[in-house]
Amino acid sequence: LMQIYRPLNFIGFVYRELRQGLTDIEEMFKLLDQDPEVIDKPTAKPLAITGPVIRFDNVTFHYDPDRPILKGVSFEVPAGKTVAIVGPTGAGKSTISRLLYRFYDVTGGAITIDGQDLRDITQASLRSAIGMVPQDTVLFNDTIGYNIEYGRPGASTEEVREAARMAQVGAFIETLPKAYDTPVGERGLKLSGGEKQRVAIARTILKAPAILILDEATSALDTKTERDIQSALDLVSANRTTVVIAHRLSTVINADEILVLREGQVAERGTHAQLLAQDGLYAQMWNRQREATEAEEQLRRTTEDP
Ligand code: ADP
Repeated sequence: LMQIYRPLNFIGFVYRELRQGLTDIEEMFKLLDQDPEVIDKPTAKPLAITGPVIRFDNVTFHYDPDRPILKGVSFEVPAGKTVAIVGPTGAGKSTISRLLYRFYDVTGGAITIDGQDLRDITQASLRSAIGMVPQDTVLFNDTIGYNIEYGRPGASTEEVREAARMAQVGAFIETLPKAYDTPVGERGLKLSGGEKQRVAIARTILKAPAILILDEATSALDTKTERDIQSALDLVSANRTTVVIAHRLSTVINADEILVLREGQVAERGTHAQLLAQDGLYAQMWNRQREATEAEEQLRRTTEDP
């Protein structure tokens, strides 16, 4: 019996391995499958920037047909202005930034930049016009200098240093034994979330894009780090058309317009002061966040200064 059992057992093992292999291949195809959705039209033209003004016109979107994510979102970001998007987790905020970068195409309505539909322009020109500072910056296994220079390959050492200084990460880099030649990433020096974000900001300062998308990290930052990042962001977003998926009070307060997204729809919109006066969802969120921040500060003061 063992003689039959063993080969069968072996076949079972091979089968499981193969099935695992197939699942991976299926996953890969699923990923590849998303791409045909966003190929350039044969007639696609490079984006011609005049503003740039970004418009979302009654945009609808779903990843999966039975689950609508955006249900008719409209807004405009005038040239050089900042629109902040806030709202509960799962409301569709990051989806808006992915659509603007055209990882996916809208399923209804349209997104335009200076009147040009994203579906009619080349992806290469779109992506070179946009600087994206994501929540979680993945650093290359290379030096910290290379990671910044990546924003504009060929930038001079002095330009890389200037960008790092503007992003409030230059002084930190200079304390490292090998400074800009310090290896980072998986196999190098591990940077904190706040440091990684400032490296991403430095990279973006070097790229100097016409449009900026910021997806702020949700993780709590200490007050000094938050202030440093905020001043770096103020520098990079000044006079740039900016969309920020905002979690921090400091960014939200300074935005030209705030959209409160709830379940894929714009529930409230206005400036910080207007929204507070409305005393709705935004006012609630803001008060809750402010209480949390104050409690945290209080805790820090008592632990630092017994
Ligand atoms: P937010 O940024 O407001 O937290 P997201 O835009 O990330 O929200 O997500 C909105 C909804 O879309 C969530 O319910 C999320 O689960 C879903 N979602 C996000 N990405 C995908 C995806 N790649 N495939 C399927 N559903 C997704």
